[in-house]
Amino acid sequence: MSWLSDLARPEIRALKAYQHASWEPGLVRLHANELPWRAPLDETEAGLNRYPEPHPHQLATRLAALYGVGPEWVLPGRGSDEAIDLLTRAYCRAGQDAVLITPPTFGMYAVAARIQGAEVIEVPLRRELDFALDVGAVLAAATPPVKLVYVCAPNNPTGALPDRAALLRLATELSGRALLVLDEAYVEFAGTPSMAADLAGHPSLVVLRTLSKAYGLAGARCGALLAQPEVIALLRKVIQPYAVTQLSIEAVFRTLQGAPLAVAAQRVAEIIAERARLAAALGALRGTLRVWPSAANFLLVDFADASAALQRARAAGLLLRDVRAHPALPNALRISVGSRAQNETLIASLS
Ligand SMILES: *Cc1c(COP(=O)(O)O)cnc(C)c1O
Repeated sequence: MSWLSDLARPEIRALKAYQHASWEPGLVRLHANELPWRAPLDETEAGLNRYPEPHPHQLATRLAALYGVGPEWVLPGRGSDEAIDLLTRAYCRAGQDAVLITPPTFGMYAVAARIQGAEVIEVPLRRELDFALDVGAVLAAATPPVKLVYVCAPNNPTGALPDRAALLRLATELSGRALLVLDEAYVEFAGTPSMAADLAGHPSLVVLRTLSKAYGLAGARCGALLAQPEVIALLRKVIQPYAVTQLSIEAVFRTLQGAPLAVAAQRVAEIIAERARLAAALGALRGTLRVWPSAANFLLVDFADASAALQRARAAGLLLRDVRAHPALPNALRISVGSRAQNETLIASLS
């Protein structure tokens, strides 16, 4: 056991994992109190009358291949949201430990910490530098209670992609002190490689990936936490057995092969092209103050009158995300890049 285990809550280190019914697909299952018949209209391959694999090894292996790591470096789960929840529960003691976030950023990091009773330390992104990460300030704020340092890359809701050298420096300097949790939910749209390739050389690094965005599987709720096998083993004790449903597992296997995989790549390219078109069109509107540079599948846009923009979009049947509650974003809306037709409707409604 290394510092990666010492960092975790002592209760979790000491925990013996739940002994679930064994997985022996070659034998008839009279050991798990399932019904022997499928429900009517159940058209899944495995049958929903059966529990899925408790810790889905085949799914982990498939996701490992997709993300270019070994299977023992992957924990599949119900989206990145579950990964954030697991990390918080495994590493943060209520009333003692803390997480560090860099606002404006994804809200789940702080929510998960508050549910656990962990403190949330904020080191704001530098708005004057297109929301760049302040590495020196993050390191200064990463005191011993801080167990998890979250960086979202590209960041939601700003769209900014943190500098790779800055991330590597953070990973190096946090080694032995805290986990650097790099949320790469949108990395497929960034045109830069994932930092999954840097995991082996940087033990503090945890990378979150999801099938919700680039692969169009938000409804399937499937993502992967990538980390040192020691971290994966620890989190496997905390995750529910059967976390990923059989319906989701089958949807993932259908999507991550052959023609569907090629379609996913085309659609990412289409969104990237639409992003540039939409940014230019929004930037040319009279009511737009600023379109922030984005490496994701959305744009952060400052409007002279954001309330009016929301209303006009809604009147055209379009829902935009109001992010003005954040102090650093007083005039901003977050707009997902849609299809060409949807983007045209949006531009027309705001013109
Ligand atoms: C959408 C999003 C996710 C994905 O969450 P899932 O639970 O995998 O659907 C993760 N992180 C950020 C920053 C996101 O915006």
